[in-house]
Amino acid sequence: MSELKTEVLIIGGGVLGTAVARELSRYKVDATLIEKEVDFGWGSTKANMCIVCQGADHQEFSKEYHPSPLVWQSMPLMEPMCQELEAPFNRVGELALFFNNSGKEKYEKMMARAESRGITTHQLLDRDSLRRLEPNITREATGALYDPGIAVTDPVRLTIALAENARQNGVNVITGTEVQDIKASAGGFEVKTSQGNISCEFVVNAAGMAVDKVAALVNADDFVVFPIRGYVAILDKKVSDLVSHEVHASPEAPGESNIITPTVYGNLFIGTPMKLARRGDDATNREMAEVALRNARRLIPDISEKDIINSFAGFLMFRNWELGWHECIVNTSSTVPRFVNVSIGFPGVSAAPATAREVVKLLSREGLKLRENPGFNPYRKAITDFTNLTDEEKRKLIASDSRYGHVVCRCETVTEGEIVEAIKQGAATLDGVKFRTRAGMGRCQSGFCSSRVTGILARELGIPEEEITKKGGESRQLLYKSKELIGGRE
Ligand SMILES: Cc1cc2nc3c(=O)[nH]c(=O)nc-3n(C[C@H](O)[C@H](O)[C@H](O)COP(=O)(O)OP(=O)(O)OC[C@H]3O[C@@H](n4cnc5c(N)ncnc54)[C@H](O)[C@@H]3O)c2cc1C
Repeated sequence: MSELKTEVLIIGGGVLGTAVARELSRYKVDATLIEKEVDFGWGSTKANMCIVCQGADHQEFSKEYHPSPLVWQSMPLMEPMCQELEAPFNRVGELALFFNNSGKEKYEKMMARAESRGITTHQLLDRDSLRRLEPNITREATGALYDPGIAVTDPVRLTIALAENARQNGVNVITGTEVQDIKASAGGFEVKTSQGNISCEFVVNAAGMAVDKVAALVNADDFVVFPIRGYVAILDKKVSDLVSHEVHASPEAPGESNIITPTVYGNLFIGTPMKLARRGDDATNREMAEVALRNARRLIPDISEKDIINSFAGFLMFRNWELGWHECIVNTSSTVPRFVNVSIGFPGVSAAPATAREVVKLLSREGLKLRENPGFNPYRKAITDFTNLTDEEKRKLIASDSRYGHVVCRCETVTEGEIVEAIKQGAATLDGVKFRTRAGMGRCQSGFCSSRVTGILARELGIPEEEITKKGGESRQLLYKSKELIGGRE
């Protein structure tokens, strides 16, 4: 790409940018999505607890909670969207524990408010009913507010699916391309990127952690955001039966904002409360793990340090830490017409479907002509999920293609056939394969399979193994082959 013209330019291939791209593809709009990384969903979307929440309003507990209507408007849209895109969605339900009568009364008020918004699924559970649902839960909890509607997804797979479906429906989707400058012009915007220039009439800025920096390029930064860091530890699947619901404690309970949640793959996630931090400093350390463990044990006492197989830290941008968690920016810049800023600190994954609709409405108000795309196809096919096939299906598949009989990742039972499918769908790095297939996400954390995945990537992409990277750029895994080293190469 050296010069490109497009009607709408979407900056950022996280869950919000890709959701906007797919929503726009319902219309005959010439849209382009650009992402600076070589794949989708590698920003905040990757560093996530994976919970699809309803946007419950916890104002009894803390002034920090102000759910945007976009969150609760999204819940009814999320499951059908995941079905159309063959993205994971599992209604695990949520248990918000209380430890005394005052906690219970607060949840009663919260439940009444949720009902007034049409969320009628909540139930108050006493200690015995709670323990029937979760036998390993702390004995200190006197009950819980139960919301069976809460679900978990895989945000990166969802984001990849949204991008693929947008592309199928005509959106020009470009990765490895960073926006470096934006100038407003009479007809719209001139955008300088790392791969050439783009002129466009409308911009949707969904740059996640860089939302303010991208807006500032064209003086559309009429907001201030603060980087907030969260830490998540991943537990081994062998302890997946310790808990089956997303469980958290009200902030006034012992160990504030502690949380434990199952994932769609069976691992449990535990996390620490979010804190202001230096933007981009996503290093994890022992102290974070200790806080997460201490808090998680207050919910489920049997969790052990040995169960942690990996951890990560991620950032979200809060508009005003004082105002609260759910404060989000989904509006046209007050200073630059036709420039829409989209940023949802938390919970951006849960809010993505309604946010995408809202952005399209904003663009239309700014003058974008929306004519229905009669060819829009909402369906997208996921790659094969070998583990979840029946034995008969597995036998048939292996008979038709022996690569499905070759298990490459033993921890997660990922076959060569699935890895080849992932590469055909766009994975070009080890992380690209990992996030599409889970190869490398198990107990051994890719110790066994990464060299094999590297070999398959090199073979399928027709490039030397040394050119295969973990996540693009300079993240090469192999400097040269050991035989070359023995042969005297410097
Ligand atoms: C620890 C943690 C746990 C969370 N748990 C949940 C949860 O359980 N449920 C939930 O709903 N939400 C959760 N969230 C919040 C959620 O992750 C975010 O709200 C959401 O991912 C934001 O998506 P996004 O698309 O705006 O940002 P991102 O995913 O960061 O996407 C922005 C994209 O823009 C790209 N970009 C940036 N600058 C440029 C540029 N100049 N040019 C081109 N591209 C650019 C980036 O590479 C990135 O891919 C959690 C967040 C954290 C940190």
